[in-house]
Amino acid sequence: MSKSDMTQRTIPINLLTPPPVSLGEASSHFRGSRSLVSVGVAAVTSVAASGIAGGWPAAVSAAVGSVAALAAVPLVYASWLALFSARCTANGTCCPSCLSRMWQLCCARCGEPMPPLALMFGGVFLPGCPHCGLGLSSREETLMAWCSTCNFRLPRPREFYRRPTHLAVLATVPPLRVPGGLGEVAGAAHGLVGFDCSDPRAVFVLLVTDGTAMPVFDNHVIARTSLLLLSSRLDEQHKDRFRSFFTRVAEREVE
Ligand SMILES: [Zn+2]
Ligand SMILES: [Zn+2]
Repeated sequence: MSKSDMTQRTIPINLLTPPPVSLGEASSHFRGSRSLVSVGVAAVTSVAASGIAGGWPAAVSAAVGSVAALAAVPLVYASWLALFSARCTANGTCCPSCLSRMWQLCCARCGEPMPPLALMFGGVFLPGCPHCGLGLSSREETLMAWCSTCNFRLPRPREFYRRPTHLAVLATVPPLRVPGGLGEVAGAAHGLVGFDCSDPRAVFVLLVTDGTAMPVFDNHVIARTSLLLLSSRLDEQHKDRFRSFFTRVAEREVE
């Protein structure tokens, strides 16, 4: 799958869940997988060896077993992919930069999109980038979590996609700053954003907004926000403005 294909499939920012993937599309993710080729070669060798040792009945039996094993790999992957997508949806994983839904991957060197196959079973079926040959590893940061909407990248996709993402909105007064303890997302597409990925239990994203500017919030931001932080320096009129958007969200007053 080329980058241009992925660009054409760029998701709208407010899509709530990863799209379902057909078995045919899941099978296409194995394109360029040398491991699956190796399994196929091993199967053919096994059939030939069985034929030599035990004659035609043994060879036919080995061939049927090999074909079944090869056919099962994409099926196992399709099931794994459905679970991966469901987990990203349940975790509320979103891009720290544009707050779009996020579940994709890319190669750290050439930036080409990589299928989630690169994460399944430690990446045994896609250990290297088919485009530039780089060994793909979440831990070694050669495989990145990637947002197809704004092209934002994050290291350690295995850990990132495994944890729930908590999105909070901070309404404060200028000058706007990201609070200490959070890293600022450079050039965030959605404004001033703080980010913390160091907690092994969750990812924290904080959208810092000017509480005196009467901003408008998109539905996808409202739907993903779990905490509203209101500066004590805001007057009630401005606080009510935020409460009118985040009606079902926990609220806390901060300095
Ligand atoms: Zn993004
Ligand atoms: Zn590459």
